[in-house]
Amino acid sequence: MKKLEDFADDINKCSKCGLCQSVCPVYKITGNDCAVSRGKFVMLDGVLKGDLKLNKNIEKYLDMCLKCGKCKNFCPSNIDVCEIFNTAKYECAKNTFHGKFEKFLESKWVFGSFMKVGKKVNDICKTLTRISAPQVSGRNSTLSLREREKKISLLYFKGCVNNFYPKTERAFKKICAHLNNVEIIELNFDCCGLPFLSSGNMERFEEVKKYNLELIESCDFDYILTDCASCESTLKGYPSSGYKKSPLPPCLELFGASENSTFPDTLRADALPKIRFTKGVNTSLVREVSRSDGGFSFVNAAEFLTGQNIKFKFKKPVKVTFHKPCHLENDDFLKPLLEKCENVEYIEMKDYDDCCGFAGEFAIKNPKISSAISKQKALNAYETGADYILTTCPACVMGLHQGFIAAGKKSPEIMNIIEFLALAEFAGK
Ligand code: SF4
Ligand code: SF4
Repeated sequence: MKKLEDFADDINKCSKCGLCQSVCPVYKITGNDCAVSRGKFVMLDGVLKGDLKLNKNIEKYLDMCLKCGKCKNFCPSNIDVCEIFNTAKYECAKNTFHGKFEKFLESKWVFGSFMKVGKKVNDICKTLTRISAPQVSGRNSTLSLREREKKISLLYFKGCVNNFYPKTERAFKKICAHLNNVEIIELNFDCCGLPFLSSGNMERFEEVKKYNLELIESCDFDYILTDCASCESTLKGYPSSGYKKSPLPPCLELFGASENSTFPDTLRADALPKIRFTKGVNTSLVREVSRSDGGFSFVNAAEFLTGQNIKFKFKKPVKVTFHKPCHLENDDFLKPLLEKCENVEYIEMKDYDDCCGFAGEFAIKNPKISSAISKQKALNAYETGADYILTTCPACVMGLHQGFIAAGKKSPEIMNIIEFLALAEFAGK
């Protein structure tokens, strides 16, 4: 477990240039330098030098952060802001009553039991509704080696929200039922750990990370599939905390997409490079290369469907707009995917990649700031006149709803892009 003092050099790398102010959604609303990275680094530097105590006041400003990473992407000193703030938060939380109480709520016993109940209810609903689904298997694929060679195996990391509100999961499976080249592997994953990271509960984060990694490594698959940008981003961050990163380039680059190219129809089983991860002996060169560096390859549900031989036919013309979640690394899939949709017009909203202002615990601890950021987002979306606002993160769906309430405007339909696609009729090319 890292300590704040381990980041002393990084904190000193801050040149106080103030460039982070121009991108920080919280600074834009509050105008308070303590709310942005620069101000926080000044305080944390004071703590490390012994001039300041890591007290409630500093904790208040540490909580005043969406962990959107916008400042990190913009910082000329390339400081990993979120990791430093999470560590400082960990040091604050371990000594306070509310920190200990939050840990209790996030414990395996409380949080874990809550998730189990959600999953049970979901399982019962699935049995009752009998959704047609593609081949779904547990840890060991039920397919023969020969059958598996023809299919793409997706290890589905469903995220906590699907346990309670499995609309995106159902939508994805409904679409995949039209494909004969997909095997979905479902394992009993724990939370990705993002809420624990944000609250400074590093022990719990390490616990779920270890559990999830053991499950991933016990299984044979081609890609880890996610339908939530935050889960994907957190899972991709696992290796940096002790596990090596994948040597493979991001999925879209891997399949030859460039800035100006249209998305290739190559996420098909026959065109996919085999990078199956198998416990034990490596059986292909690619696997050996990937495996030897300890990395995994990810694909999100929207990227995956972009490469499939499907046309989405909507009966009536509809207008859509898209909110890019802060945790979504890459949205190259968006336009090629919408081009596969008949009767769909895409209208880009102003600042489509600005934060929605929600970010779980941030919204609870800073309701007014959160609501003000969400309101601006909702107004930008509203101006497009779209019938649907699409995104790829359940927290952003909540943020957008919050924004429309704050703006006092009638909300269009807000949903995960996969749910929207499942409203269509399907046809081959
Ligand atoms: S952009 Fe980076 S270096 Fe500049 S003030 Fe912000 S944190 Fe410091
Ligand atoms: S992570 Fe986002 S909210 Fe936090 S300081 Fe950086 S830009 Fe501001």
